[in-house]
This record gives sequence, C-alpha cells and structure tokens, in this order.
Amino acid sequence: MRPVVSATPALLASVAVGRPVRGEFTYLVPEAIADKLAPGQRVLVPFGRGMALGFYLGPANAPVEGGVRLKPIQRVLEDSPSLPKDLIALLRFTAEHYRYPLGEVIRGALPPGLSTAVDEKEAKPDIQFFVEALVTEVPPQLARAPAQAAVLQYLLAVGGRAPLDEVTHAIPGARETLKKLATRKFVKWVEVTLQAGVREGLVQNRPDRLTPEQALAVKELQAAVDVGGFQPYLLHGVTGSGKTEVYLRAVEHTLARGLGSLVLVPEIALTPQLVGRFRSRFGGDVAVLHSGLKDRERLFHWQALRKGTVKIAVGVRSAVFAPVEHLGLIVVDEEHDPSFKQDEKLRYQARDLAVVRGKQASAVVVLGSATPSLETLQNTRSGRYKLMELKNRVDDRPMPTISLVDLRVERPREGQVTEEAPILSPQMLQAMEETVAKGQQVILFLNRRGHSTILLCEVCGLSLKCQDCDVCMTHHRSQNRVVCHYCGVAFPVPDRCRECTGPLLKLGIGTERVEAEVLERMPHARVARLDRDSATSAEKLTELLASFARRELDVLVGTQMVAKGHDFPGVTLVCVVMADTSLAIPDFRAAERTFHLLTQVAGRAGRGKDPGRVLVQTYNPDAEPVRRMLAHDFDGFSKQELEWRKALAYPPFARMAAVRLEGEHPEQTAGVARFLGNLVGRHMPPASAGVRLLGPALAPIARIRGKTRWQLLLKAPTHAALAPLLARLEAALADVPNGVKVVIDVDPGAML
Ligand code: ADP
Ligand code: ZN
Repeated sequence: MRPVVSATPALLASVAVGRPVRGEFTYLVPEAIADKLAPGQRVLVPFGRGMALGFYLGPANAPVEGGVRLKPIQRVLEDSPSLPKDLIALLRFTAEHYRYPLGEVIRGALPPGLSTAVDEKEAKPDIQFFVEALVTEVPPQLARAPAQAAVLQYLLAVGGRAPLDEVTHAIPGARETLKKLATRKFVKWVEVTLQAGVREGLVQNRPDRLTPEQALAVKELQAAVDVGGFQPYLLHGVTGSGKTEVYLRAVEHTLARGLGSLVLVPEIALTPQLVGRFRSRFGGDVAVLHSGLKDRERLFHWQALRKGTVKIAVGVRSAVFAPVEHLGLIVVDEEHDPSFKQDEKLRYQARDLAVVRGKQASAVVVLGSATPSLETLQNTRSGRYKLMELKNRVDDRPMPTISLVDLRVERPREGQVTEEAPILSPQMLQAMEETVAKGQQVILFLNRRGHSTILLCEVCGLSLKCQDCDVCMTHHRSQNRVVCHYCGVAFPVPDRCRECTGPLLKLGIGTERVEAEVLERMPHARVARLDRDSATSAEKLTELLASFARRELDVLVGTQMVAKGHDFPGVTLVCVVMADTSLAIPDFRAAERTFHLLTQVAGRAGRGKDPGRVLVQTYNPDAEPVRRMLAHDFDGFSKQELEWRKALAYPPFARMAAVRLEGEHPEQTAGVARFLGNLVGRHMPPASAGVRLLGPALAPIARIRGKTRWQLLLKAPTHAALAPLLARLEAALADVPNGVKVVIDVDPGAML
C-alpha cells in the first residue's frame, strides 16, 4: 500500500505519546488545526483502542512504513505550547541517550497538571502568602517553645522572608506554629501578588567586596554571558572559597541582561542556607523547585518560567527540565554529588544533561565544586571546559590542618574485637574536649548508620544476614532491633546464632554507637546525631541543623549528611571516626567517593574566624584517597586516579552502560540474563571498536527483597560505539517475560 495521497510532508506530525512506548509516532494533521499547531503543544491523539495525551514535536518527514494507515491528531489541548523549543531538543536527547520512552520522559518533566490529557488551565496562585520575620534573631522567650524557635530559625536562615508553602514544606506543621509566632508578633504574614518581574527588594548579605579570585571568575562569567553562546566552565574552588557568591553575581548579571538562569543543587532540605541566599538576593524572581512541591505550585512555577515572568529557577536534579526562557546561564553546584544521578525510572545524570542543555540553548554552563568529578576534570584537561580556580578561602582564612590517627598503632588489640573496643582514640577525645571547652563545635563523621553493622556468631562465624537480601543486618540499639538497610525489614535482636545457637558478637561501628560513645566519654557535652534514622522528617532535619547553627549543641555525629555544603562558623574540629568504610566497596569509583567525602567533611572546619583542624582515624593510612586528602592534594589524587582509570579503561576514558535484571525466579532470571548476553555477543562490533561485555554475572548484591539480581556491563571508548548495542537491547525488552524486570542504566553511578 502507498502512503495516503493527500499527506504532503507539511501535514504530517511527529508526536510523542504519553504512554510507555518507545519512539515517536507519525500522525496526520487535519486542515482545521494546521495553523494552530506549534511544536511543544499537548495534543489528543488516537492510540491503540482509545485516546492518549500526545506531544507535538514538529513536522514529520514521511510515514514510517508504506503500509501504515495514519490517524489524525484529534485535538490541540492548549494555545501556547507547554514545552519550549530548546527543551524539546533536550527531552529527545534524554530519551535517546538513556533509552527511555520519549512520551514518559516528557510526562515526567511536566508538572502533574500538564501531564494528563486535559485542556490547559491557568494556575492561579496570583496571590501567594509570604511570611516575614519581625526579629533578626530567635528571642530568648522562645527557649521553651522549640517548635516556634525552629520555624523562626528556618525563616531567618533563608533571609527572613519566604513563601508560606516553602516553610511548611521544610517544616511540616509549620502553619500552626507560624500563627502562634504571628500572635506573638515575631512574624507577620504578607500577601503578595506575583507579577512580571516584581522585585521584592530583598537584598541582604551581599558582600561589598569580592575576593580577587572571585572577582576574576565573576568577570569571566559576565563576559561569557555577554558574548552569548555555549561555554562550559569548571569552577574549582576549595571549601569556603565563596563559590556561591560567584554564582549569585553571575545570575544577577544574567538577569540584568534579561536572560534566564537555572541553578541545580544536590538536596534542598540539607541546604536551606543556599536557597536562602538566592531568596534574599532575588526574592520572588526565583522559582525554588524541590520534590515536595504541591501539584498546584509545580504548575504555577512551570507557567511562570514558561511565560518568562520568573527568570531564575533553583532546584534539584529534575529542575534540569525546568522551562526557563532565554536561558543564559546554567549552574550546577557541587557537581560531583551523587544525587544528580537518578537511580529509578528514567536513570539520568542531571549534571550531564545540564551541559547538553547549555549546548542546545547556547548558554554558559558552570559546574562548581571543591572536589570536581574526574569526568568533569578530564573535560577540563582536554580543553572542552574552561577552568576557573578559587584556591583560597574567603578573608584569607586558612585551610584546616589535617592530621592522622593510625588505628593500627593506636588500638593494638590482642585477639578478638570485643564490644568494648574504644571508638575514639585518646588524641581524638582530647581534641574534642579542648574544642568543647573553648565553646567551639565538633563534627564527627562516620558514613555508616546504626549501632553495630555486623552480628557475627562466635562459634560458626556466620554473620546475621537479611533473609531476603544478600546483606548483613545492622543492629539499631535505640530500637532494640536489627534492620536490613536494603529492604527495611526489622526484627528483635536475636541472642543466638540462627544456625548453631552460638553467641553473637557485635562488630562494625555505626553512628549510633559513636554517639553513645561520645555521651559516655563526654557526659557534659551536648551531643546530637544526624543521619537517616534521626532525621526522619524534614522538620527534624531542619531543627537539628538550626540548633547546631544556634550553637545549642557541641558535637554533631553523622553520616554524609554532615558533609554537605553546611556553613557553620562555630565548627573548628572535624573528626573522621573511620576513613576506611567506603574504601572496600566493589565500585571503581570507591576511591574517588572516599576522597570527596573526606575532603568535603574536612571543609566544614574553620569556616569562621577561628581556624579549623581535622583528625582522621584510619586503618589504611597509606590508601591513596586518605594520603592525598591529608595533604590537601586534590591534583595529586586526581592525576593518580585518572592514570589508573585510563589503564583499566574506566570512565572518564570509557563510557559504560549497565543492564540490570531482577526476578522472582532465580532460573528464569539467569535465563533472561544469558539471553541478553547472547544478544549482545551476536551483535558485537569488531574487536577494534574496543567494546567489551562484562557478564552476565550475579550482581555484587545478588539478592534484594527476595529477588535475584543479575547484571551485564558494557564498556566502550565512546557512547557512539555503545549506542547500537543499547538500541538492540532496548528493542529486546519487549520479549522479556513479565517475571523479570530489566532496566538499562546508561552512564551508571553506583555499581552495586
Ligand atoms: P563554598 O561554597 O565555596 O564552600 P561559600 O559560598 O559557602 O563557600 O562561602 C563561604 C562563606 O564566605 C559564606 O559564609 C559566605 O557568605 C562568605 N563569603 C563569600 N564571599 C564573600 C566575600 N566576598 N566577602 C565576605 N564573605 C564572603
Ligand atoms: Zn533485606
């Protein structure tokens, strides 16, 4: 059969359908709507037996196959397209690169109000409630009203004024608390009508003078924005060098030129300070995009950005899809942070997409970090990105001094480890005592939660594992239970080994145990713990961070949550309880992650007027990341690590993709893994292309939630060399039986 005769190319449309189907579909454009159609519009199309939401992407060239009878677009759902042009390009790239259905990629990017097949509605929060602090610090009267103090502290931390919804998101239940605060005249409610370009005149804390290094970076960025066009930068600035101020000035300049800015940050709940700085500088000109927004708010922000009435978006990884108009600048703060990689559904890396978007939108891109990823570093070395450095802290504050406590020497032990083995070496305890005695603060870092992380039978040597997962159970003493950190199953601590009824030893320390140790050794100190067990809600998290900032606590014990970009001037001592925890993880990035974490946590010390110091306890003082971190030697570490990656052909010198399988039945799962392995084998390019298949093999954690896990790893010199194989795999997913779930993870983050 020949194509429908009347279908001239101009009257064919390429449409992504909002269903889990791959590819774009060609539809006929009825005469009646031909002149209403614009790329990026949501449309209604016949699909299967019914109707589906579709996204018109542009004219299609020719019907895919001669035999297909094309159906017409049913209706256009909106006048002005929800998706701006540059975003269409990004979404197409995303679907292609990460092997995910385009319609689903688009639906995931859109706010809920636009991701269903309903006619466009204007979001109408024309009036938004703000709350404004009427005091500049938490008054002593609130000492016995911790909830009120916490809310007020949050408000002050974000610049004294914030949308009500933002506060109630950060602190659930804050609405009632704010009413009380309003009655006591500590805050007031303000009704704000949001209009185009309304500036709320909230300029606060803008330093009069930049450091010479900041000034240089700002000048460079401003010039790049003026010139226009794609230009990626790495802003490599040591901890406390004032990177945020550089972003703020660059955004100011971009705004003054009438262009939009997009700022990506790792986790908003952990960084109220950063959001606060943007709020205080730009007021209502900023859309803050986080995962806790209500549907209505998301829709409102989307439309405001789309219309260009709001020109700055600050948000977490999903904000890389925010429809910022006339994009001039994209910033990715803490670009090394693993949270930019999404590890479910669409497995994208927002930092990488930010660069792609910058290229498509001809914008300046700044990736900032004290510990840039090796991927970004290599792009700088190869000349793809320009390098800007801030080598000194603000006000010439010194970097903290770092010293080592060799646990092999400090803790000689005969025979077994017992529960009584000390956790804090005498040096560490002494340093903590001194610091607290001076009224200064301590951060204690250990990247493992729980009390003890291994329960081992003294007789048969078996460790207590989760029955559904291939991992050890962690003892949580506060709950008096053992918990699986993978599936969450928990039960009372058994007192005997399941196999041989021998007595159980508690080995491996977690933050809970460290906290207990500090409480015991320093009974006078005010101690708190920050990890996923203690910060169970955004409210608790904010309250903890705020009370540490108010210096109501002397010692904060925590996991990587304490290593994030916090700026606590009172902290002069950072203790790493054990630097070794992440070294042995079977992941080629283990050394890099360890180095990043250690450097970032060390960077929390000495950010105020008093100099800081860092003590690192370790069993592996010679391990590369530990040695280099001690010497503040980022360059040495990355040079060494890059050589190693190159020798073994790992990223950034290769591109990878993981195919992950998970199935109820071990046999069936193994069968699918072999089937996919054979498929790859049959289509392998000649050896000269350098493509390698590792596996199929059981995943390093072979079972989670009772499901068997397999994986295949693909490695190639370029993504282009991988793409045809990934396309084959993607096409084969349709043939995989329902009992086995297969996902393709392109540029995988963690290897577990
Ligand atoms: P980084 O993100 O590089 O670790 P920050 O941006 O948090 O550092 O800056 C560290 C501290 O220095 C912050 O408290 C910030 O307000 C302050 N600061 C930044 N730039 C200046 C400046 N030019 N003058 C004075 N203080 C500054
Ligand atoms: Zn489990």
